[in-house]
Amino acid sequence: MLAITNIGELVLVPPGPVRGSSMGAIPCLEHVAVVIDNGLVAWIGAMNDLDAPADCEILDAFGGCVLPGLIDCHTHTVFAGAREAEFVKRIEGKPYAQIAEEGGGIRVTVEAVRNASCEELVELALPRLQRMLENGVTTVEIKSGYGLTVDDEFKMLRAIRKLADLQPIELAATYLAAHTTPREFADRPDDYLDAILSDTVLARIRDEGLAEFCDVFCERTAFDVERSRRVLMAAAKFGLRGKLHADQITQIGATGLAGEVGAISADHLETIDQGGIDALKQAGSIAVLLPACSWFLGVEQAPARQLIEADLPVAVATDYNPGSSMVESLPLAMTIACTQMRMTPTEVVVATTANAAAAINRHDRIGAIKVGLQADLTVLEAPNHARWLYEPGRNGIRATLKAGKLVHTSR
Ligand SMILES: [Zn+2]
Repeated sequence: MLAITNIGELVLVPPGPVRGSSMGAIPCLEHVAVVIDNGLVAWIGAMNDLDAPADCEILDAFGGCVLPGLIDCHTHTVFAGAREAEFVKRIEGKPYAQIAEEGGGIRVTVEAVRNASCEELVELALPRLQRMLENGVTTVEIKSGYGLTVDDEFKMLRAIRKLADLQPIELAATYLAAHTTPREFADRPDDYLDAILSDTVLARIRDEGLAEFCDVFCERTAFDVERSRRVLMAAAKFGLRGKLHADQITQIGATGLAGEVGAISADHLETIDQGGIDALKQAGSIAVLLPACSWFLGVEQAPARQLIEADLPVAVATDYNPGSSMVESLPLAMTIACTQMRMTPTEVVVATTANAAAAINRHDRIGAIKVGLQADLTVLEAPNHARWLYEPGRNGIRATLKAGKLVHTSR
């Protein structure tokens, strides 16, 4: 048994998905304590009413705020290599097409991942996950998608599986072989899809439990709506829930497809239109926004306010990847959501807990603070969550708990 005492502010996020204006209306309790038993929240009440047994462990929050453990529901954390040359070229004003022509872009990462062993991918990702934990993150979704051969995609999924066993953050794996068409299949995208979507491949992923979700980059330069539909329909037959990289650069109807196939989430949405908003509402998909990506690229943000006003459940994630968002800090992405998308701190907390949990189908267990739910909690130094997000660039995490276990403390 463990009691967290002297909590300055407990943000009582309810289980997701939390829609629209409800995202900004979350009750906060002051001067409270939380008792954890068997990995679950067992009691929430006023400090004065705390009646813990003598052998109960105590974690003093020293007046700090407590949130549900943060969930980064869209990342590409398993990768090799780095692309700072591309970063510099972009600053100098070169368009992506030219960068790709000069040998940059996603191919650099694909090459590096193909040349790395599974063990090397694990070694590279471990310290990234450790730093995420230090940032208050207790659950992370990770996609494949830099192997782009059946064997290399399996290697990435196996690396994610190994990482789940080696450190405390809970991982959700997504099969993103349909990230782009690899060079060997240039001008033959359908042949590539034949290879990565064969019954044998998808059955192996299902039978070995290597992924829960299947994602596709639905974009003019990647896979069109028809091919993306094929990807998600094939994966669904093997129990993989659909996700889409949708409406990022151009508007080709990707969110309409998300609605049509009942995708669990549609991610990016920088160019979403009213048809896309209606489709997501109808399907009950989570709108996952990636403010650190637009910030890193210096482009327009997704219309968060419009999506919230449309009563959609909005989630926020880092999109951590070596090309368009070398940002592994979810708290930094959260402050960017506040200042660049005009989401309130409360909305952003809901977007990275309850709604992020819903985007990876874990909302009945994590992402909320409620008696009986898993005790994944983030303890801040700041007395309230707005104060914390108002100070980006400094680590304000006092402690992180996963299933009631203390997995990180700041000292
Ligand atoms: Zn992404």
